[in-house]
Amino acid sequence: MPTPILSKRAPIYADVPDEKWNDWRWQLSNRLNTAEDIEKVLPITESERKALQTQDLFRVDVTPYFISLVDPDDPNDPVRKQIIPVAEELNAFTSMMEDSLAEDRHSPVPGLVHRYPDRVLMLVTTQCASYCRYCTRSRIVGDPGQTFNRKDFEMQIDYLKRTPQVRDVLLSGGDPLVLAPKILEELLARLREIPHIEIVRIGSRVPVFMPMRITQELCDMLAKFHPLWLNIHVNHPNEITKELADACDRMSRVGIPLGNQSVLLAGVNDCVHMQRELVQKLTRIRVRPYYLYQCDLVEGSGHFRTPVAKGIEIIEGLRGHTSGYAVPQFIVDAPGGGGKIPVTPNYMLSMSDHKVIVRNYEGYVTTYEEPTEYKSHDPKTCKFCQNKRPEPGQTGLTGLLDGDQMFIKPEGFDELHNRDGFQHRLKDENKWKPLGIGSGESD
Ligand SMILES: *Cc1c(COP(=O)(O)O)cnc(C)c1O
Repeated sequence: MPTPILSKRAPIYADVPDEKWNDWRWQLSNRLNTAEDIEKVLPITESERKALQTQDLFRVDVTPYFISLVDPDDPNDPVRKQIIPVAEELNAFTSMMEDSLAEDRHSPVPGLVHRYPDRVLMLVTTQCASYCRYCTRSRIVGDPGQTFNRKDFEMQIDYLKRTPQVRDVLLSGGDPLVLAPKILEELLARLREIPHIEIVRIGSRVPVFMPMRITQELCDMLAKFHPLWLNIHVNHPNEITKELADACDRMSRVGIPLGNQSVLLAGVNDCVHMQRELVQKLTRIRVRPYYLYQCDLVEGSGHFRTPVAKGIEIIEGLRGHTSGYAVPQFIVDAPGGGGKIPVTPNYMLSMSDHKVIVRNYEGYVTTYEEPTEYKSHDPKTCKFCQNKRPEPGQTGLTGLLDGDQMFIKPEGFDELHNRDGFQHRLKDENKWKPLGIGSGESD
């Protein structure tokens, strides 16, 4: 695989001096958002024109750097589809939702989503460097009137201080890396003052939309707050440029472990072979593929949806076929707030009391003999078992496996299965007579 080369600029930017082009503030203030702007870079289709002229469409904005990655002659260019709206965005589809992950319901204070036992999602801004057309948070993202809100921030910090089970804070939005440097630094410093917060994570597409933002100065600032992890968001190999590779290199060198989250999108990256190239290119720039998400049921993204089976097929084509480090976890984020659910091909085919039957990526079917005398560690003397962290109400199947809990019941289960009314009513003959013995309508 060739090393990425410096990406081309669209011809209209040919005369922009390098100092400007490489200045993230210039990139931000020269973003494109109207049909007239975009037409200067590439010929737009009728469908794109219609969408761009629609009122109340989810916000459009693209950095000059990112739009320059589009092949202007290809209306189906995978980069183009991610940032230029088309008329299909206006179509509703069955099971479409505004807040499909029920984040608002999981927010103890505005902008803080506490869904899992030990970690929270903290939405620190509504702004991004460019706007993905399939944004799962389009209900709140993009509003130009709303940026960093100090009152909400103080409430978020206050909640975190009094919630000691939170050991991991994931900063998202919007995109935390478009915040003014001073604000971002203050935010990280305030989080670091809270002793029980062990790790901080940032989810950002800034390295992809605007790699010039990842200056050495920014990296040095971030490195003051270790352990700090960062996930970028690349969907297609065309996004992996020399500029992105350099930005990732700068972050890796200050010790930030990098991951990637992709969204599976029809016509953009729903191809096993393309995905294999994507994940291999990511590992070359020291970015570990983390999650591949099934597209959420969010307004405007119907035309991007694929069957879940496409994700399984992609993982089938990666696992075993390439480095384990390059294989992301395929995730369906369950509508209604069920959270992230990993979905994988089946490798376990069957089992008996003494062996399991498994298959590998090549279709080789084999058996694994279970040990006949397995001596488990002793939970009574194991200090980890003794000191396990509480997960009130969220232990799930692990609670069945190692706790005193015997079952998990769906809502209404007891009421539904409490049909012993028959027994009670027998004792009260005035209330109940068996059907067909003098109680039917026919007599
Ligand atoms: C995705 C997400 C997280 C982090 O999940 P991981 O699987 O730990 O990466 C945390 N909170 C919320 C609400 C999320 O949506």
